Formats: sequence, C-alpha cells, structure tokens
Amino acid sequence: MVTRKTVWIGTNWKMNKGPAEALAAAEALKAYRAPDGVKPFIITPFTSLQAVASVLKGADVLVGAQNMHWEESGSWTGEISPGMVKECGADIVLIGHSERRQHFAETDWTVSRKMSAALRHGLRPLLCIGESLEEYDFGVTAETLSRQLKIALHDVAHADLPNILIAYEPVWAIGAGGRAADTDCVAKVHAGLRAVLCEIAGKDIGDRVPLLYGGSVTQDNARSYVSQPNVDGVFVGRAGWSVPDFEKLIERVIEERAPA
Ligand code: PEP
Repeated sequence: MVTRKTVWIGTNWKMNKGPAEALAAAEALKAYRAPDGVKPFIITPFTSLQAVASVLKGADVLVGAQNMHWEESGSWTGEISPGMVKECGADIVLIGHSERRQHFAETDWTVSRKMSAALRHGLRPLLCIGESLEEYDFGVTAETLSRQLKIALHDVAHADLPNILIAYEPVWAIGAGGRAADTDCVAKVHAGLRAVLCEIAGKDIGDRVPLLYGGSVTQDNARSYVSQPNVDGVFVGRAGWSVPDFEKLIERVIEERAPA
C-alpha cells in the first residue's frame, strides 16, 4: 500500500459571513467526512468563531481565528487575546496574513510574539509569509521569506515546530487582482523553505513542518501544487467560501496526492 502525505486544505473566510451565514455553513460542514489523510479547516471571523467551533466540535473540519493579540489581557481595545480564541473553541489561529501586514501594521516582530503566545495556549498557529510584487521583481523572494520565517520562529521551541502550519502566500498572488504562482515557482520556493526549516531545527524536525501554498488557488490548479514534494496542502480564500466549492476543492486535491 502506498503511504500518502497528510494534506491540509483550509479556507480563510476573511471579512465575509455574519453569524447567521457562518452558522449555516458550519451546519452544512458538520457531517462532512474528510478522506483519510486530509485535514480540512475553516478560518472564521471572530463574531462567529464560538458558534462555528461549537457546531464543528468533534467534526472532521477544524476551526480557526483570523488573528489574535499576543498579550493575555489588558488595555488593548479592539483586540482578542490567545486565551479568548482558545476559549471560543478554536484549534488554529492565523498569524501574519499579508492583509494584516499590509493594512494593519503587522510586523515580523508582532508575528513572532503571536507565534509563541498561540503555542502557549495550545493553539496551532498558521503562519503566513510571502513576498511583495516589488520584492519578487527585485529577485529577493528567498531572502524575504527566510527573514520572515526566522523572525517568526525565533522564540518557538524546535519540538513545537511540527505543530505549526506555514503558508507561503506571495502577496501578488492573493485576492481578486492576484495571479496564481507557477507550480515550478512554488516547488522551488517550498524547497527553499524546507531548507531554512532544516537549518533552524535540523532535518528530523524541519521535514515534519507542513508547508501550504496560498494565492488564487482554484479547483483547477490545486492538484498541481499538492503534487509537489514539499507542498503539504493549500490555503485558499475565494475558492472555499461556499461549502460545496470547498468540498469540491478537497475532492480535486486528493485526486493527485503525492506519496509521503
Ligand atoms: C488568502 O487571502 O489567503 C488567499 C489565498 O486568497 P485567494 O485564494 O482568494 O487568493
């Protein structure tokens, strides 16, 4: 029997779906049975996190938050603490999404603080890294990603690294104006990320950190990414916002799972 690698497939709902719509989507996903070796997850807005997590408790679809603060509590108006995210029932927390870096002054330093805070609270951080179009054009993608990765993981114990997820999301590939990265480009970048992880924590650990690709992933191109040796899944926005589309995406991806 061929052993297959575990494949992570997640969707970030971003600022979409109020509580009623989110709850309906969670109810629709509740009975979904993920194929063996596939880990589906949804990243919800804060306003529906608790309700969605409660509906999906024990289901095959994991639930995550889109952001959190690194402090336990205090005078941080408008922020949500790691403990609050955990108490809402989240399994995962998104950290460093490019839209937060771009529009909300998220920095490598705040990302780093959030990574260790999430792990302290038993949350699985999903770290997003990615170069801007300008950095891509200047040919400094590898340097940019290596810097983002090393700072984000600076305070993370090596033993915790297999419990995190990393999504490579080139900024120029994300959203309505984005264009999907070529499979060859993703394969090369992910091989470079794997090398950095092995440099940080040694090969035994570095090889076990799941690396996802995100940015204009569709039902048509998803398979080609996941068939690359260092791509352990896809992280999507638009392609997963409707439940039937999300389920179809999973089906399409597993048609071409690479051996472990
Ligand atoms: C994202 O924002 O993380 C993303 C991958 O979006 P999209 O799939 O819509 O490009």
